[in-house]
Amino acid sequence: MKLYSAGDKSKAICETCQDMVETTFLYRDVPFDDGTGKVKDILASVCDRCGEVVAIPAQSLPAIRRAREKVEVSLEAQVPASDIEILDAAATRISERASVRHRKFLLAFYVRKMARDPQGAERIKQLFLEAKAAKPKAKVKVPRKRLSFKVSHDFEEEFAAFAKISGLKKTQVLRGVVREIRSDLVAPEYPASLPQLRELVATMES
Ligand SMILES: [Zn+2]
Repeated sequence: MKLYSAGDKSKAICETCQDMVETTFLYRDVPFDDGTGKVKDILASVCDRCGEVVAIPAQSLPAIRRAREKVEVSLEAQVPASDIEILDAAATRISERASVRHRKFLLAFYVRKMARDPQGAERIKQLFLEAKAAKPKAKVKVPRKRLSFKVSHDFEEEFAAFAKISGLKKTQVLRGVVREIRSDLVAPEYPASLPQLRELVATMES
Protein backbone atom coordinates (compact mmCIF):
# COMPACT_ATOMS: atom_id res chain seq x y z
CA MET A 1 0.00 0.00 0.00
CA LYS A 2 1.06 3.58 -0.53
CA LEU A 3 2.00 5.44 2.62
CA TYR A 4 1.71 9.24 2.36
CA SER A 5 3.64 11.91 4.21
CA ALA A 6 2.79 15.57 4.79
CA GLY A 7 3.66 17.56 1.65
CA ASP A 8 3.20 14.67 -0.80
CA LYS A 9 1.36 15.57 -3.99
CA SER A 10 -1.49 13.70 -5.67
CA LYS A 11 -4.48 14.21 -7.92
CA ALA A 12 -8.17 13.84 -7.08
CA ILE A 13 -11.61 15.03 -8.08
CA CYS A 14 -12.57 18.09 -6.02
CA GLU A 15 -16.34 18.34 -5.47
CA THR A 16 -16.09 22.07 -4.81
CA CYS A 17 -14.01 22.88 -7.90
CA GLN A 18 -15.90 20.26 -9.97
CA ASP A 19 -12.60 19.31 -11.53
CA MET A 20 -9.60 17.00 -11.40
CA VAL A 21 -7.17 18.95 -9.24
CA GLU A 22 -3.66 18.77 -7.83
CA THR A 23 -3.71 17.99 -4.12
CA THR A 24 -1.26 18.15 -1.25
CA PHE A 25 -1.28 15.94 1.85
CA LEU A 26 -1.70 18.16 4.89
CA TYR A 27 -2.94 17.87 8.48
CA ARG A 28 -6.55 18.97 8.84
CA ASP A 29 -9.38 18.55 11.36
CA VAL A 30 -11.72 16.02 9.77
CA PRO A 31 -15.25 14.92 10.79
CA PHE A 32 -15.81 11.35 11.98
CA ASP A 33 -17.19 9.05 9.26
CA ASP A 34 -20.69 9.24 10.79
CA GLY A 35 -20.60 13.04 10.45
CA THR A 36 -20.51 13.71 14.20
CA GLY A 37 -17.69 15.72 15.74
CA LYS A 38 -14.20 16.24 14.42
CA VAL A 39 -10.86 14.54 14.84
CA LYS A 40 -7.90 16.88 15.11
CA ASP A 41 -4.85 16.74 12.85
CA ILE A 42 -5.60 13.97 10.39
CA LEU A 43 -3.43 13.58 7.30
CA ALA A 44 -5.75 14.34 4.36
CA SER A 45 -5.54 15.10 0.66
CA VAL A 46 -6.28 18.83 0.27
CA CYS A 47 -7.24 20.62 -2.95
CA ASP A 48 -4.48 23.03 -4.05
CA ARG A 49 -7.09 25.34 -5.64
CA CYS A 50 -9.77 25.75 -2.95
CA GLY A 51 -8.22 24.26 0.18
CA GLU A 52 -11.01 21.73 0.83
CA VAL A 53 -10.29 18.20 1.98
CA VAL A 54 -10.95 16.01 -1.08
CA ALA A 55 -9.83 12.57 0.07
CA ILE A 56 -8.70 10.62 3.12
CA PRO A 57 -5.86 8.12 2.63
CA ALA A 58 -6.22 4.58 4.01
CA GLN A 59 -3.66 5.28 6.74
CA SER A 60 -6.00 7.95 8.21
CA LEU A 61 -9.26 5.95 8.04
CA PRO A 62 -9.11 4.01 11.34
CA ALA A 63 -8.64 7.24 13.29
CA ILE A 64 -11.83 8.80 11.90
CA ARG A 65 -13.94 5.67 11.98
CA ARG A 66 -16.44 5.96 14.80
CA ALA A 67 -16.30 2.63 16.60
CA ARG A 68 -19.85 1.38 16.50
CA GLU A 69 -21.31 -0.63 19.33
CA LYS A 70 -20.65 -4.20 18.38
CA VAL A 71 -24.04 -5.84 17.95
CA GLU A 72 -24.09 -9.09 19.83
CA VAL A 73 -26.57 -11.91 19.60
CA SER A 74 -26.91 -15.10 21.60
CA LEU A 75 -26.08 -18.45 20.12
CA GLU A 76 -27.43 -21.33 22.20
CA ALA A 77 -27.54 -25.08 21.86
CA GLN A 78 -28.19 -28.17 23.97
CA VAL A 79 -25.45 -30.72 23.33
CA PRO A 80 -24.22 -33.93 25.00
CA ALA A 81 -21.76 -33.22 27.84
CA SER A 82 -19.16 -35.20 25.86
CA ASP A 83 -19.19 -32.48 23.14
CA ILE A 84 -18.31 -29.87 25.75
CA GLU A 85 -15.53 -32.12 27.04
CA ILE A 86 -14.09 -32.28 23.50
CA LEU A 87 -14.13 -28.48 23.29
CA ASP A 88 -12.49 -28.16 26.69
CA ALA A 89 -9.87 -30.79 25.84
CA ALA A 90 -9.06 -28.78 22.68
CA ALA A 91 -8.92 -25.61 24.80
CA THR A 92 -6.21 -27.12 27.03
CA ARG A 93 -4.08 -27.61 23.91
CA ILE A 94 -4.32 -24.02 22.72
CA SER A 95 -3.93 -22.25 26.06
CA GLU A 96 -2.26 -22.96 29.36
CA ARG A 97 -5.07 -21.00 30.96
CA ALA A 98 -7.89 -22.77 29.18
CA SER A 99 -11.33 -21.80 30.41
CA VAL A 100 -14.94 -21.73 29.21
CA ARG A 101 -14.30 -18.64 27.10
CA HIS A 102 -12.02 -20.64 24.81
CA ARG A 103 -15.03 -22.71 23.71
CA LYS A 104 -16.39 -19.84 21.68
CA PHE A 105 -13.00 -19.06 20.17
CA LEU A 106 -12.59 -22.66 18.99
CA LEU A 107 -16.11 -22.92 17.57
CA ALA A 108 -15.83 -19.55 15.82
CA PHE A 109 -12.44 -20.43 14.31
CA TYR A 110 -13.64 -23.77 12.93
CA VAL A 111 -17.07 -22.55 11.80
CA ARG A 112 -15.43 -19.78 9.77
CA LYS A 113 -12.83 -22.13 8.37
CA MET A 114 -15.44 -24.69 7.30
CA ALA A 115 -17.95 -22.12 6.03
CA ARG A 116 -15.28 -20.77 3.65
CA ASP A 117 -14.29 -24.21 2.40
CA PRO A 118 -16.12 -25.15 -0.84
CA GLN A 119 -16.42 -28.72 0.49
CA GLY A 120 -17.41 -27.51 3.96
CA ALA A 121 -21.16 -28.07 3.61
CA GLU A 122 -20.74 -31.70 2.51
CA ARG A 123 -18.18 -32.31 5.21
CA ILE A 124 -20.25 -30.86 8.05
CA LYS A 125 -23.17 -33.13 7.13
CA GLN A 126 -20.87 -36.16 7.31
CA LEU A 127 -19.38 -34.99 10.60
CA PHE A 128 -22.80 -34.48 12.14
CA LEU A 129 -23.85 -38.01 11.17
CA GLU A 130 -20.66 -39.35 12.77
CA ALA A 131 -21.32 -37.34 15.93
CA LYS A 132 -24.89 -38.59 16.08
CA ALA A 133 -23.83 -42.22 15.64
CA ALA A 134 -21.13 -42.06 18.34
CA LYS A 135 -22.33 -43.86 21.47
CA PRO A 136 -20.61 -44.37 24.83
CA LYS A 137 -19.08 -47.83 25.24
CA ALA A 138 -21.05 -48.68 28.37
CA LYS A 139 -24.75 -48.03 28.76
CA VAL A 140 -24.28 -44.70 30.45
CA LYS A 141 -26.66 -41.84 29.97
CA VAL A 142 -24.64 -38.79 28.91
CA PRO A 143 -26.27 -35.65 30.26
CA ARG A 144 -27.09 -32.79 27.91
CA LYS A 145 -25.65 -29.38 28.63
CA ARG A 146 -26.23 -25.91 27.37
CA LEU A 147 -23.69 -24.08 25.23
CA SER A 148 -24.30 -20.37 25.16
CA PHE A 149 -22.26 -17.63 23.52
CA LYS A 150 -22.50 -13.98 22.67
CA VAL A 151 -21.40 -13.60 19.06
CA SER A 152 -21.24 -10.70 16.63
CA HIS A 153 -24.09 -10.16 14.21
CA ASP A 154 -21.72 -10.83 11.28
CA PHE A 155 -20.68 -14.17 12.71
CA GLU A 156 -24.30 -15.17 13.41
CA GLU A 157 -25.13 -14.43 9.75
CA GLU A 158 -22.21 -16.48 8.45
CA PHE A 159 -23.14 -19.32 10.79
CA ALA A 160 -26.83 -19.25 9.77
CA ALA A 161 -25.89 -19.20 6.06
CA PHE A 162 -23.57 -22.18 6.56
CA ALA A 163 -26.34 -24.11 8.38
CA LYS A 164 -28.73 -23.30 5.54
CA ILE A 165 -26.52 -24.50 2.69
CA SER A 166 -25.69 -27.63 4.70
CA GLY A 167 -29.36 -28.34 5.30
CA LEU A 168 -28.67 -28.71 9.03
CA LYS A 169 -30.06 -27.10 12.16
CA LYS A 170 -27.67 -24.83 14.06
CA THR A 171 -27.22 -27.35 16.87
CA GLN A 172 -26.38 -30.01 14.30
CA VAL A 173 -23.75 -27.74 12.73
CA LEU A 174 -22.22 -27.15 16.16
CA ARG A 175 -22.09 -30.88 16.82
CA GLY A 176 -20.39 -31.44 13.44
CA VAL A 177 -17.88 -28.70 14.17
CA VAL A 178 -17.08 -30.26 17.55
CA ARG A 179 -16.45 -33.52 15.71
CA GLU A 180 -14.06 -31.69 13.37
CA ILE A 181 -12.25 -30.16 16.36
CA ARG A 182 -11.93 -33.65 17.83
CA SER A 183 -10.25 -35.07 14.74
CA ASP A 184 -8.22 -31.95 13.87
CA LEU A 185 -7.03 -30.76 17.26
CA VAL A 186 -7.68 -33.37 19.96
CA ALA A 187 -6.89 -36.75 18.37
CA PRO A 188 -3.54 -36.05 16.58
CA GLU A 189 -0.39 -36.03 18.65
CA TYR A 190 0.93 -33.02 16.72
CA PRO A 191 -2.06 -31.22 15.17
CA ALA A 192 -1.19 -29.17 12.08
CA SER A 193 -3.43 -26.28 13.20
CA LEU A 194 -1.98 -26.10 16.70
CA PRO A 195 0.88 -23.58 16.20
CA GLN A 196 -1.45 -21.11 14.43
CA LEU A 197 -4.18 -21.45 17.07
CA ARG A 198 -1.73 -21.07 19.97
CA GLU A 199 -0.31 -17.97 18.35
CA LEU A 200 -3.78 -16.47 17.86
CA VAL A 201 -4.84 -17.16 21.43
CA ALA A 202 -1.57 -15.84 22.87
CA THR A 203 -2.00 -12.65 20.84
CA MET A 204 -5.61 -12.21 21.94
CA GLU A 205 -4.66 -12.75 25.57
CA SER A 206 -1.75 -10.33 25.50
ZN1 LIG B 1 -11.09 22.42 -4.90
